[in-house]
Amino acid sequence: MRAAVYRERGVVRIEERSVPVPGSEEVVVEVSHCGICGTDVHLALEGWGRRGSVLGHEWSGRIARVGADVSGWTAGDRVVGVPQRSCGACRWCRAERPSLCEARPGAGVGETPDGAFAPYVRAHASQLVRVPGGLPLRAAALAEPLAVALHALNRAGVRPGMRALVTGAGPLGLLVIAALRAHGVDDVIASEPAPARRERAGQVGATACVAPEALAAPRLPFQLAEAPVDVALECSGSPAAMESALAQLGRGGTLVLVGTGLRRPSFDHNRILLNELVVTGAFNYDAGGFAAALELLTLGSLPVDLLTEPDDIGLDAIPQALERLARGEIAGKVLVAPGGRT
Ligand SMILES: [Zn+2]
Ligand SMILES: [Zn+2]
Repeated sequence: MRAAVYRERGVVRIEERSVPVPGSEEVVVEVSHCGICGTDVHLALEGWGRRGSVLGHEWSGRIARVGADVSGWTAGDRVVGVPQRSCGACRWCRAERPSLCEARPGAGVGETPDGAFAPYVRAHASQLVRVPGGLPLRAAALAEPLAVALHALNRAGVRPGMRALVTGAGPLGLLVIAALRAHGVDDVIASEPAPARRERAGQVGATACVAPEALAAPRLPFQLAEAPVDVALECSGSPAAMESALAQLGRGGTLVLVGTGLRRPSFDHNRILLNELVVTGAFNYDAGGFAAALELLTLGSLPVDLLTEPDDIGLDAIPQALERLARGEIAGKVLVAPGGRT
């Protein structure tokens, strides 16, 4: 089979690979769709990927082969894969916070198993979640990034009636905006530098879409922004956006860092102290996050057509899509259709 392989910083090549064979507790899935994640962009273009690995973790597909000791799954079953395995036994897993599992691997550095920018992907049976009947596999490929968005809402303590700010309206920011609206948050401001992404943010449900410079930061730490927000969800990974999001919080507000990057923000500690602000992070998913994401998608509560780019791409177009995503030229989720047997 052909696969998109990370070689070195900035280099993703299409190479010939043998079709994976399942271990005794594993299955091999014929990939229907696999989304390109911000993480793939970082891994490939910033150079933290494992050399020789196949990228792509946001996949959906049908089980093609089942390992000898796997029960409960058969060939043809429609599934999505949970990339992070958690031990189920440590104190964080027992507290239903698998994102903090003590046995979790590092944040994608050097340890990623082969992914689904290929017609077939191998997965442990414990990582499979069944796709509800009636939900197309294409939409189901949004389960992973939507689970990330739902975890961020949970970390923010979002409730209906709140006023929210989302900084960065790329594929993840758009999912966060749509998830906020689906959770009864009807006052959502999106801050985003790229006009095309701002426009899409409005289409998926942001009630106001502004360029970052339009958000004036109050000068003194005890002064609040003109229209402060209860929660801010930072989805860009840009230090300026993190600082701006903090400055927009009202008293007792919460900033959740969802987007990542290598450059660090500089936060005004006096603003945090005087207004009792909470700054926290959101990594991966809630326990049951995939089931919640699939349920939202199945209910039709999200504008899938606006959250994804209209034309799915083949493996050959991945390197170019990574570059365009890094430049902010694409608003929605790019879905790769690697094309298995057919
Ligand atoms: Zn992802
Ligand atoms: Zn654990």
